[in-house]
Amino acid sequence: MRWGMLIDLNKCVGCYACTVACQQEHRLSLGEKWNRVLRVGPDGKFPNLTAYFLPVPCMHCEEAPCVDGCPTGASFRREDGIVVVDEKKCVGCKFCMVACPYGVRFYSEEKGIVEKCTMCFERLDKGEVPRCVETCPVKARYFGDLDDPNSEIAQLIRKKNAHPLHEELGTKPAVYYIFP
Ligand code: SF4
Ligand code: SF4
Ligand code: SF4
Repeated sequence: MRWGMLIDLNKCVGCYACTVACQQEHRLSLGEKWNRVLRVGPDGKFPNLTAYFLPVPCMHCEEAPCVDGCPTGASFRREDGIVVVDEKKCVGCKFCMVACPYGVRFYSEEKGIVEKCTMCFERLDKGEVPRCVETCPVKARYFGDLDDPNSEIAQLIRKKNAHPLHEELGTKPAVYYIFP
């Protein structure tokens, strides 16, 4: 079992509902965005321009540089693939922030520790889907078990030829995208 997410960039309208819902769910300050939504483009030449919105949560990498870079063992990968930070072990050194190639970790001035998207594991443990998946008004986000070939997410990844962001880095993310 490996939890993963699939985001259809053809559907995302850049409304930021996921960003705000994530902030509410995890009681984050306005500056803390565990799920940023970036604007990509426009690229190409008129009239063939492409532009799209790119939501970026933690990729929950299988080969996670943040885990390797953490000197205290605070950052670790759970058996279900979710990469988490143990608040009690984090000393706020920010080595993980430097190591993460996706820039998804944030230093909490208030707590003196580094935090990031948790894949909403607290909700998963209750049988609910991540808050951003539930909230997205256009259902651009899918969630499920990447290891189950019959799951909706695994089937869509195959059918739609979805890929992780910067696959060439070799971090083996658990977040996939259907690119425009
Ligand atoms: Fe895109 Fe859905 Fe997030 Fe809105 S809520 S920005 S449509 S992924
Ligand atoms: Fe770690 Fe960054 Fe990968 Fe998340 S995206 S698991 S913070 S390296
Ligand atoms: Fe935020 Fe949860 Fe979505 Fe991660 S999975 S971006 S923590 S709402």
